[in-house]
Amino acid sequence: MTLLDVRDLAVRYDTPHGVSQALDGASLTVAAGELVAVVGESGSGKSTLGMAVLGLLPASAQRVAGDLLVDGSSVFGLAPAELRGLRRTRLGLVLQDAAGSLDPTRRIGRQLAEHLDRPGHAAVLSRLEQVRLPDVERVARSYPHQLSGGMAQRVAIAIALARSPGLLVADEPTAALDTEIKHDVLRLLADSCRERRTALLVLTHDLTGIAAYCTRLVVMYGGRVVETGPPEEVLERPRHPYTRGLLHAVPGQETVGGTLRSIAGSPPVLTGPSAGCAFAPRCEFRIDRCGGVRPEPSDDAARVLCHRDGELDAVVTLHEAPEV
Ligand code: ATP
Ligand code: MG
Repeated sequence: MTLLDVRDLAVRYDTPHGVSQALDGASLTVAAGELVAVVGESGSGKSTLGMAVLGLLPASAQRVAGDLLVDGSSVFGLAPAELRGLRRTRLGLVLQDAAGSLDPTRRIGRQLAEHLDRPGHAAVLSRLEQVRLPDVERVARSYPHQLSGGMAQRVAIAIALARSPGLLVADEPTAALDTEIKHDVLRLLADSCRERRTALLVLTHDLTGIAAYCTRLVVMYGGRVVETGPPEEVLERPRHPYTRGLLHAVPGQETVGGTLRSIAGSPPVLTGPSAGCAFAPRCEFRIDRCGGVRPEPSDDAARVLCHRDGELDAVVTLHEAPEV
């Protein structure tokens, strides 16, 4: 059953400095229990999408088109009290700065207990054990500043999962952590969601880090979802030129000609709906149509947003043959 259904959602921020079209017709569905990773460069709209799911967009953000449904109901149609109820019972949130989302003045055990339907010392300890924290008695008695970043993030995950939500949104959950523990925390997130049958929507820059832990990858560019699919398919046979570029820009991946490269140019800063494909100015495969006609999703599950989808393998072979 479809838990989250984002339909052609367009959201813009109006600020004294100008307008920013953060989402420009983003579409995405998440089924119960799916582990979905949303990847894309800075400014592609990941956090705006995540905050929209939770009904937490700031007042400067407005929906200009499309809709976002959780359990079949539009979050934009809910009264504030209904939205709070939905967040308490069906949704969870984990942010980059775990320690910052905890109350610095209260012990961990008390804070976690507040989120449990049946609080109690034993229940608190058991939840801390479930997120693989050592010495849970001591952690329960600690204040947030007494924990390492990784431990605080585990506590934040325990709190977000306390009521076994249908969907957990994690926005850059490991960005502030040391490299050695990033993978442990991602694995914990994925395993914990799988055990509870909670769907996960993790928003990240870190394409290769997350690929091993998700059941589906979603690639965003310029406020739209440009490609989606099982991680092994997207990594081995990327179809959108932006996805191809992202993979070439990732250290350790096979690269054209064996050298590492990044995508030339910068991501767009949209001040309104894009006229054509937002990636066109950076795209080596661009044709005239790309500049003026918005690509619509392909009919298959990958929903690739590219006018040249299906032609590119042939083009790439032609391009590269002389260089080898
Ligand atoms: P990052 O990887 O840096 O976290 P992101 O993919 O999460 O980026 P968003 O934060 O959703 O992207 O931003 C999308 C666009 O909306 C950007 O152009 C950004 O500058 C703009 N934006 C985001 N939040 C606000 C805000 N509160 N006010 C004005 N503009 C905003
Ligand atoms: Mg973000």
